[in-house]
Amino acid sequence: MSQLVEVKVPDIGDFSEVPIIELFVKVGDSIKAEDAICTLESDKATMDVPSPATGVVAELLVKVGDKVGEGAVLLKLDAAGAAAAPAAAPAAAPAAAPVAAPAAAAHAGSADVEYDLVVLGAGPGGYSAAFRAADLGLKTAIIERYATLGGVCLNVGCIPSKALLHVAAVIDEAEHVSTAGISFAKPSVDVDALRAHKDKVVGKLTGGLAGMAKGRKVDVIRGYGSFLDPNHIAVEETTGTSQDKTGQNKVVKFKQCIIAAGSAAVHLPFIPRDPRIVDSTGALELRFVPGKMLVIGGGIIGLEMATVYSTLGARVDVVEMMDGLMQGPDRDAVKVWEKQNASRFDKIMLKTKTVAVEAKEDGLYVSFEGEGAPTEPVKYDMILQSAGRAPNGKKIGADKAGVIVGERGFIPVDAQMRTNVPHIFAIGDIVGQPMLAHKAVHEAHVAAEVAAGHKSAFDATVIPGVAYTHPEVAWVGYTEAQAKAEGKKVETAKFPWAASGRAIANGADYGFTKLIFDAETHRVIGGTIVGPSAGDMIGEVCLAIEMGADAVDIGKTIHPHPTLGETVGMAAEVAHGSCTDVPPARKK
Ligand code: FAD
Repeated sequence: MSQLVEVKVPDIGDFSEVPIIELFVKVGDSIKAEDAICTLESDKATMDVPSPATGVVAELLVKVGDKVGEGAVLLKLDAAGAAAAPAAAPAAAPAAAPVAAPAAAAHAGSADVEYDLVVLGAGPGGYSAAFRAADLGLKTAIIERYATLGGVCLNVGCIPSKALLHVAAVIDEAEHVSTAGISFAKPSVDVDALRAHKDKVVGKLTGGLAGMAKGRKVDVIRGYGSFLDPNHIAVEETTGTSQDKTGQNKVVKFKQCIIAAGSAAVHLPFIPRDPRIVDSTGALELRFVPGKMLVIGGGIIGLEMATVYSTLGARVDVVEMMDGLMQGPDRDAVKVWEKQNASRFDKIMLKTKTVAVEAKEDGLYVSFEGEGAPTEPVKYDMILQSAGRAPNGKKIGADKAGVIVGERGFIPVDAQMRTNVPHIFAIGDIVGQPMLAHKAVHEAHVAAEVAAGHKSAFDATVIPGVAYTHPEVAWVGYTEAQAKAEGKKVETAKFPWAASGRAIANGADYGFTKLIFDAETHRVIGGTIVGPSAGDMIGEVCLAIEMGADAVDIGKTIHPHPTLGETVGMAAEVAHGSCTDVPPARKK
């Protein structure tokens, strides 16, 4: 008898309208529980949707390019069909067969050191977890392969990119102010000095972290960690600024462990190794400013780096497989961004793929396919690959600890951040989307608190996303597109910055602040801001959502004047019908 199970997109965090970039199944395929069904690509990374059950694909309801959110039905699975299929097990698998945990190994040897809690990885997730655990009284160590704490975010992600984006913003602003009668000479760029400035910013923060680890008596064990069993990690010691091995090994014993081993940039297999082809880490090294640069992937990381390099003088093309840049926020916000950035790019090739790269002495010759593809290969001086990030779950010997790792390297966890092995937790990029530092830190605190015996759980309603480009684009909770896709009734209120005194004074009257309210409860459930400092302002909308605020709560909160932040209050007043800074609402 046929038992059709609807396979839906699971909770993918704060993302909706996420495009399907790859489908791994077709009607008639026999699939097992945890087999990947499709790959979704958000603006920061890619993720696979695993099948929750074993069965035969009876009906496929999506195709590549479709945009989906949590709850969207991908396919119908005939769970009984698994039994009928020749290669299947004799009995039909249950609809949501639990994923089998790998059999844990047993370390027979001794340990060199022992801790209450060991944290694997010192990114924003790892160091936050370790510091919180130490503050709660646990004897804690961090294992980290690199010389400095801070992981991707502090060393090669959030912070260095923002140091460079700040400089780019100052250059752009200096040029814009010419409309106010102030002209500066064309900037001369000293790339070495700029790199040193960025390194100094990073050094200040990573040095600060080392001091805080010491202050809390958190030991930092330098080396590459890999599980030996559910209570031991082997550490291959590393030295220098990279991952050079010393040849020395150490065994670390733990009562509890938090895995915070993060993610790595995806490298497209057909792209050759060449010093002129970089990922975000290579781009942040700022070795040179190319004449002509190609950015593969129009997500946030790619567009942030494109902003920096174009301001420094590179001519930039962007190629993106999907039908728009910066997937995630509503298109009206992206349109504003596109208009403000039109002069920055030579070509934006949408619905287009890079299919080949030939590295020659005089340049990198790139061939494209798709709607925006040039007919002949195009020559570039530098290529930035920013086609997403993949979790490091398969690189840490998790199976020896009996920890389940999904097909693509994500580690499933519960609301207390526990893996299937109750004394081993996982947090940050390695547990799923969105791959963002602020999510990692919140998960870190939960895991550390639970490990210390506190009743804690990750129950954030929303996680904001921000593109720190010029202008910034920030969004949180529901977008209009998501509400439409889900058939959710919402009320939208938009405050155009053309009506904000401060935005006009700052030359940012193109921006807007939009709030989205649940049409039934009238509570705010989403917000999008585009304009300078949008990322700083979206926090208020996050708080309003978490507190269950409505338009009156926000609008009656006195915001300082004249500020850009005031536009959040004004958008709420627009919703409420009490805004006196916009033309009167038409009588209904
Ligand atoms: P990571 O920061 O990846 O840290 C993991 C750590 O574990 C690393 O230090 C790694 O060396 C170590 N490690 C891994 N395996 C082992 C092992 N076996 N043994 C020892 N050590 C190991 N997020 C934002 O919120 N805002 C931003 O503006 C932002 N900008 C970004 C810009 C760029 C260019 C990039 C690439 C990312 C950006 N991100 C941003 C994402 C952010 O950096 C990540 O979400 C965040 O760093 C994840 O933290 P984590 O602790 O999970 O892992």
